[in-house]
Amino acid sequence: MNNHQTALSLITPYGGKLISLVVDKEKRAELLARAINIPSYQLSERSMQDLELLATGAFSPLSTFMTRNDYHRVIESMRLSNGTLFPIPITLPLSNDRSILKNKKITLRNQFNEIIAVMSVQDIYKRDFKKECQLVYGTTDPTHPMVSEMCHWPDYCVSGPIQVINLPHYYNFFNLRQTPASLRIILETYGNNNVVAFQTRNPMHRAHEELCKRAAEKVHGTLLIHPTVGITKIDDIPYITRVQIYNTMYQKYFPHDKTVLSILPLAMRFAGPREAVWHAIIRRNYGANYFIVGRNHASPGVNIQGKQFYAPDAAQKLIQSVAAEIGIKPLLFNELAYNRSQKKYTESYSISKKNKFSALSGTDVRNVYLTGRKKLPGWFTRPEVAKILADSYIPLHKKGFCVWLTGLPCAGKSTIAVLLQNLIQESGREVSLLDGDVVRTHLSKGLGYSKEDRDTNVLRIGFVASEIVHHSGAVICAAISPYEQTRQQVRYFMPHGSFILVYVDCPLATCEARDTKGYYQNARSNKIKHFTGINDAYEPPLIPEVHLHTLDKTPQECTDMIFNHLKMCGLVAK
Ligand code: ADP
Ligand code: ADP
Repeated sequence: MNNHQTALSLITPYGGKLISLVVDKEKRAELLARAINIPSYQLSERSMQDLELLATGAFSPLSTFMTRNDYHRVIESMRLSNGTLFPIPITLPLSNDRSILKNKKITLRNQFNEIIAVMSVQDIYKRDFKKECQLVYGTTDPTHPMVSEMCHWPDYCVSGPIQVINLPHYYNFFNLRQTPASLRIILETYGNNNVVAFQTRNPMHRAHEELCKRAAEKVHGTLLIHPTVGITKIDDIPYITRVQIYNTMYQKYFPHDKTVLSILPLAMRFAGPREAVWHAIIRRNYGANYFIVGRNHASPGVNIQGKQFYAPDAAQKLIQSVAAEIGIKPLLFNELAYNRSQKKYTESYSISKKNKFSALSGTDVRNVYLTGRKKLPGWFTRPEVAKILADSYIPLHKKGFCVWLTGLPCAGKSTIAVLLQNLIQESGREVSLLDGDVVRTHLSKGLGYSKEDRDTNVLRIGFVASEIVHHSGAVICAAISPYEQTRQQVRYFMPHGSFILVYVDCPLATCEARDTKGYYQNARSNKIKHFTGINDAYEPPLIPEVHLHTLDKTPQECTDMIFNHLKMCGLVAK
């Protein structure tokens, strides 16, 4: 029997039962047969993770994606339409128009096109992007990871009862994956009245360890180490490395009779204060009655002006104000720092400046300590953790990157791309080249030049490039890619910092004069429709990493500018 079936046997006051999974074999087969014949939609990775937690009761009392009324009330006042406190909108953005029909069924598929669920659509509504950003995340700053992600979501959300046919399959860490109900059963066997849960999306450092141990002692109960392994920030340490770290810490530094380690496939939102309340509600559903909230809980880091998005104690204040309603008590901690004179962690405010070591930031850890320049200090992290981090670290000049050249036809993209390819190869890195003209002869054969086809072409190139980058390869793409939004979408495919947009800028008249392929001539005589620069728009990039003026510079000079940028970023060896 797997976890999900075990979970069915248990119904708890706050949910924790499998709400919508169909387990009866015959009913499942019947549903599957019907699902094949109804219109289907693919879910994003985030929606898949949300759906799993809806289906297992982790988001209880919510059992499906929010309706219009729930959505508006949640963003405005953190409450579902029936008045229950719920701080984060859980929506299913599925289409850019109103093509999905009310009172009809739709099939929901995962990215591999497997049938996951059937929804009876009862509500279709347009999300209010600005209002949601402002009220839930407190900002419309595009450096906030959710703001930048949400601008690419479809406009319309759907809601209605769901019947879940399949939950995601996992192929690793089986013994650490529990549903709310199965975790409650495990926690029960520890025989404590109190369970305190700890959330993190980072490797477990000494400050985390200290918080956990202090918390378990305070409540005289079981400690539940419950890190998130769903979508986090793109530059966070990947979850596989983190789970190795949590396992090692659990094995070596925590008492097994009082500690449970379990992982949570939650797609984080980085909503700071609201996120802390949400995290607590979820842990309540998994069986905890206390939840640790320290400084800067679920913080996305700094905004466009270099300031924190949320005050360090904002999460504590909000959760305290709603504690009576959420069925779990917050356990608040002041910031802890390492006290050099006492050789232990104490509250930060009690330590003099010269004796204080505050936690290292993720950026410091990546840039200074993992590059081998310095060893991670013992006061900050356990040696076993330092070793796992060091072993998993890929130096910048071996990381994947994509140089994306955009510009008018004949601006110089292909010429520069070939020169750049040679230069990078000479520096000792292999690099692929995806040239728009070449791609159109195979990968995008048959596509035309309408906006839709152009976008498809660019997204295809972007997809292939992102696969190369994810596997630590280097790639140069040369494509007109005329639309800002589509280029942004491609940027979003790749990890932060690995997408280098180069604007190959050249006046239209010069491009036309250079034309070696007869394109402009054909466009002027209307033989080619939708030709960029003549009868279709080119939107110059807003903030390219490199801006080249090919009218005043030679191809070699332009190539050197890009290569110097790559050197400056450490992406090629100096
Ligand atoms: P997350 O983004 O999920 O909050 P973190 O690893 O940053 O992940 O934090 C996990 C928990 O530990 C949060 O409750 C946070 O407030 C707390 N925390 C982390 N470091 C400290 C510290 N030095 N002092 C107090 N609390 C901390
Ligand atoms: P695209 O790929 O942008 O359509 P091409 O590279 O095929 O453009 O053609 C650009 C033409 O412009 C080539 O004939 C090239 O020699 C010429 N050219 C002149 N100056 C430059 C420059 N600084 N960079 C790139 N190409 C240049």
